Amino acid sequence: MYHSTRSVTEQLTAKSAVLAGIAPDGGLYVTDDLSELRFDLSDITSKDFRGIARQVLGRLFDDYADEEIAECVDAAYGSTFDSPAVTPLVPVGDDYVLELFHGPTSAFKDVALQMLPQLMSHARRDGERIMILTATSGDTGKAALAGFADTPGLGIAVFYPQGGTSDIQRLQMTTQEGGNVSVCAIEGNFDDAQSGVKKLFVDTALHDELADAGVRLSSANSINIGRLAPQITYYFDAYAQLLRAGAIELGDEVEFCVPTGNFGDVLAGWYARELGLPVARFIVASNANDVLTDFFATGAYDRNRPFFRTISPSMDILISSNLERLIYYMGGGDAAYVNGLMEDLARDGRYEVRPDIMDAIRTLFAAGSADDDATRAEIAACRDEHGYVLDPHTAVAVRVARDLPRTTGAKARIILATASPYKFAADVCEALDIRADAAAPFDCMRALEDATGTAAPRPLSALEGATERFDDGIAPEQMRAYVVRACKEATWE
Ligand SMILES: *Cc1c(COP(=O)(O)O)cnc(C)c1O
Repeated sequence: MYHSTRSVTEQLTAKSAVLAGIAPDGGLYVTDDLSELRFDLSDITSKDFRGIARQVLGRLFDDYADEEIAECVDAAYGSTFDSPAVTPLVPVGDDYVLELFHGPTSAFKDVALQMLPQLMSHARRDGERIMILTATSGDTGKAALAGFADTPGLGIAVFYPQGGTSDIQRLQMTTQEGGNVSVCAIEGNFDDAQSGVKKLFVDTALHDELADAGVRLSSANSINIGRLAPQITYYFDAYAQLLRAGAIELGDEVEFCVPTGNFGDVLAGWYARELGLPVARFIVASNANDVLTDFFATGAYDRNRPFFRTISPSMDILISSNLERLIYYMGGGDAAYVNGLMEDLARDGRYEVRPDIMDAIRTLFAAGSADDDATRAEIAACRDEHGYVLDPHTAVAVRVARDLPRTTGAKARIILATASPYKFAADVCEALDIRADAAAPFDCMRALEDATGTAAPRPLSALEGATERFDDGIAPEQMRAYVVRACKEATWE
């Protein structure tokens, strides 16, 4: 059963937790006793990505029948991924890069967001309508739109910070087809958009109003357990790929370095470890918005700091929501304690975690940050040293890993590559000194193709000349009215 990180009174099935997204008290759904769900790795090399996905999801979501899980996995990880391995592992220098960007939107969020609509479809009651509200700093929005478009009974509204995404990211969203989708810019940054969405989720009057129209709100942000769980798969799958390559032996510990924003990706790795994956350490890599780097150093999470727009915009985040789950677990499952911290955060913009909990966290997590200059330098260095082109988000992680020697015990290091370099072609061209007009994203894609001899993912190059369907821009206060209208106008079947 699942309950909120902030209270244990309401206990839900996995299906209910997936549909609800966020708990009514603002907390995130968790299940206790993860270690009881551990599984044996001895036959992992005989399983492909889909096989591992079935096993992971079957463990965490035990109220889904095996056939339901299998259907979800087949629908999510089919031909929309342009690699048969789904998330291929590539050796780069002494480390490995886990390419999570082979899905339909060229970012790692596809791995979760191709799955979440499937999980929701199977959880939904007949006739029930569910409107997904999503705040995005760029990649989530398109990945969610691609996953939910024209799924019967489900609708989606996406809010992104005006000017806070790359041109390509914006185009990916505003060209989305489907009668059940809407896309809207918010005046403000990602946290304004996310806070606005969070407010709507706790707005009981809005819930009542929509319930009369048969509509229920839910979330596709990485706070949804149905987003987190699919991401656990690739940690196991990366390990299986290393075993098959003969790079490690069964039982060897490995290390992961993860470019981090909302803390969902790296937290999925921690879940994998709880489920039995031998991991020595996680490295949490941040850009100039280094609130997490400071948190791991000091134990104080403090969002009262300047917000920077960087060349890795999907990590431009000052509130890393999923950290709440880690603190819940590392604090021994003390929901009242977590609730207190989150009250501190809401009131003062900061909280401080008990030293004993921080000590436990620090045995497993290291952290570091890289600013834009260091990121650009890393993109160039990696191309020069290894002939491998990084996107800016992945480059942050590679740069942070460069400064941290592999921890004793870890036999291999895996860096998670979260986006295709073509998604951020202008910044990648600049970093590589490739001449291209930064204001012309498709020129940049072509220049990058010419300079590297690789091809841009087709869904990205096809954006050139595609019609933008949405040009709405509103203040955060207008989000409520926008959602009411989106529910009225969506075609639900
Ligand atoms: C979302 C995203 C991240 C950050 O992942 P979190 O789960 O929010 O920590 C990193 N890189 C890219 C390209 C992303 O889209």
